[in-house]
Amino acid sequence: MIFRLFLSLILMCSAGLSRAQLVILQYHHVDSTTPPSTSISPEDFSQHLQLLEQEGMQVVDLNDAIHKIRAGEALPEKSVAITFDDAYDSVYRNAFPLLKARQWPFTVFVNTDAVDRHYQGVMNWEQLREMQDHGGLIANHSVHHPYLIEQPAGQSLADWLTQEVAAAEQRIHEETGHSYKLLAYPYGEFNLEIAAWLQEKGYLAFGQQSGPVGPMSHPQALPRFPAAGIYASVKTLKPKLYTLAFAIPPDQLQNPVLDNAVMPPLQLTFPGVDIYPSQVQCFASGEGRIRTGSSKEGALVRVTTQAEHPMPGGRSRYNCTAPSKSHPGWYYWYSQLWINRSVSNR
Ligand SMILES: [Zn+2]
Repeated sequence: MIFRLFLSLILMCSAGLSRAQLVILQYHHVDSTTPPSTSISPEDFSQHLQLLEQEGMQVVDLNDAIHKIRAGEALPEKSVAITFDDAYDSVYRNAFPLLKARQWPFTVFVNTDAVDRHYQGVMNWEQLREMQDHGGLIANHSVHHPYLIEQPAGQSLADWLTQEVAAAEQRIHEETGHSYKLLAYPYGEFNLEIAAWLQEKGYLAFGQQSGPVGPMSHPQALPRFPAAGIYASVKTLKPKLYTLAFAIPPDQLQNPVLDNAVMPPLQLTFPGVDIYPSQVQCFASGEGRIRTGSSKEGALVRVTTQAEHPMPGGRSRYNCTAPSKSHPGWYYWYSQLWINRSVSNR
């Protein structure tokens, strides 16, 4: 592990700081009449696109960008990808025209059963194919949108994921002619066993924990910034566009699943490049700033953090950030998801 950390240190120094990384935005409905927690109004969405233009962001194709990052290739500075989960028809009505006019690529993560059964408020395959013809990438969001960590009793994990993930991938391939093997976890929930199965089958997978993607990001726990609901204002979006990925190796990802409400400790070790260790600060859901210790060990920084109160609700996160020394105004950002599985309706 130490060797890998040093390798990443060298990589970062030689490749520059922000050329192989990507901010991914996550939306659901683009509508003012749908549930506010998962919606952004068409007006606010339009303002987001204007902000991206104004800030000189480069809107890139998700599949292309992710594979470039993983291959160690550079991306344009300020690369951003736009994603929508659940294939809601408000995306077709209110977001697609704006994206098409700009010729910007985007991704729609589809739960295939809802499309196959013509659920109300969900796009049909014809609309999805039309979007595909204009920069839309159609990707996997499972068949039935279950909590994937809630594997039915008596079923093996492999059978469960074949039924929910591989079957959705096959339907998408049949309907669109493409199989990118990009999965967005329903509700952003996963565990390390699911991640390992996906890795073995060649999938890359996206959560809903926040942060930018960098070369060291866990390939089956790729972060995205939720950009709707309480995150819909332009003011809260802007700082997220100026984030950098900490060079934290994937094996430091903790299993997110907790059996009840606890305060999990988190330890992170990474090259101490471009930050002051004392400026690393972690935050917990519902708590804000939490106690964060940092120490320097040679070229590495070790950060330890833990919430003071048990994690509230079903899903929560620790986010750790630190300002960049070389890019004033930019922040490093890393997020660890926690799932309290004793909360049944998360
Ligand atoms: Zn979803």
